[in-house]
Amino acid sequence: MDHLIPSHNDLWFLPLGGTGEIGMNMNLYGHDGQWLMVDCGVSFNEPLKPDSQTTYELVCADPSFISKQRHRLAGIVITHAHEDHLGALPFLWKRFKVPVYATPFTAEILRRKLAQVGLLSQVDIRELPMDSRFQVGSFSLQWITLTHSIPEHSALMIETRAGNVFHTGDWKIDHTPVIGERFTPATLSTLRQRNVSAMVCDSTNALRAGHSISEEACYDALLNVIKNETGRVVVGCFSSNIARLVSIARVAKETGRYVAFIGRSLQNMVSAARVTGYWPEGLPVMESSHLGYLPPEEVIAVATGSQGEPRAMLSRLANDTCFDLTLDKGDLVLFSAMTIPGNEMAIGRLVEAFKAKGIRTLQAQDTDQPIHVSGHPCQDELMAMYDWVRPQLALPTHGEPEHMLANAEIAKSAHVPRQLTGLNGDLFTIAPEIGVRKNAIKAKRIAIDR
Ligand SMILES: [Zn+2]
Ligand SMILES: [Zn+2]
Repeated sequence: MDHLIPSHNDLWFLPLGGTGEIGMNMNLYGHDGQWLMVDCGVSFNEPLKPDSQTTYELVCADPSFISKQRHRLAGIVITHAHEDHLGALPFLWKRFKVPVYATPFTAEILRRKLAQVGLLSQVDIRELPMDSRFQVGSFSLQWITLTHSIPEHSALMIETRAGNVFHTGDWKIDHTPVIGERFTPATLSTLRQRNVSAMVCDSTNALRAGHSISEEACYDALLNVIKNETGRVVVGCFSSNIARLVSIARVAKETGRYVAFIGRSLQNMVSAARVTGYWPEGLPVMESSHLGYLPPEEVIAVATGSQGEPRAMLSRLANDTCFDLTLDKGDLVLFSAMTIPGNEMAIGRLVEAFKAKGIRTLQAQDTDQPIHVSGHPCQDELMAMYDWVRPQLALPTHGEPEHMLANAEIAKSAHVPRQLTGLNGDLFTIAPEIGVRKNAIKAKRIAIDR
């Protein structure tokens, strides 16, 4: 591995996790004898090897390539607070012991996670304003805020003396995102003047034609469905989607109901949204322990476990073991979340358990209304981004091979001169010459022991 030391003429991209798969992102950029890590995330319930039957609750990319030479690691930059981008950091940080850079909301979530593992006082978190410029070793960086399904997703402009990279992280074009800044193309279209050598880009929805749906349309859909209900309504969703939580609270207000968030992870997220200013003033939330005292038509509860996780709140509601709430015949459980591939069986079991009790369920596929919307760009959005940024090279990431190939095709039709796809462990050279060294290091997964 010692032969992999970037010179001052080199600009390299080396994904350790998240390229060839969706999840456990861990990216390295190399220049001038140094490495910059972008994101440090986990995947859930995965095997360590593709052919193994044994799955682990939490896995992440094996960081040993960089932890063995941590004197060359200039810092860790976190683009946003999703688990697949930051979830491994509390467990791996001791192997790196370098400063971590994040915007205020992401830093708040990170602090809460570090506190849980007793590391809060040790980690040097450099909290920086959105869209700010900063220097990490020989990398000149600038956050560029993009809309996604969590506040403050910050793409990165990475500038070096050898070349420049625009690292998109996860994004979509949302002109009405419910909370946070709207998507504005103005900053992006100035990037083309900054000679972007490579754009490293989200491929999650590259197989989907058209444009993603706005978070505001999801609010409308939730309102349409819930306003006709006469029993209790439970909404299953991911705790980190603050805009969705705000939408549900607004629907509650609009329909004469009280909203409560059941479970620690949701309450923690709402609390983080409050301290960082993302929870709208005057939007009421009720204690979940009061839910049981309300007439059914006044209840909206939000719960996690939309993937059928057996210990999460939706499963407990299905089994009647939730402390705060009991559901009856005629109540509605709405899934405002996508099905992560691999979870179909568990979700199916959960839906059946509700149905057996006469509790109705509504999943995204049961309705034309967008009760869930994706946070990732479809084909028209990718086209627009390539046209704004006009990189010399497209490097699709954050996808399985078919998603990355589709993203590369879009780049080609957007007249990006070169496209390269590969897998974790491949070394992509951006400067002085464009190329890829397949399997430059052996990419592996490790299990995280909590
Ligand atoms: Zn992601
Ligand atoms: Zn994300």
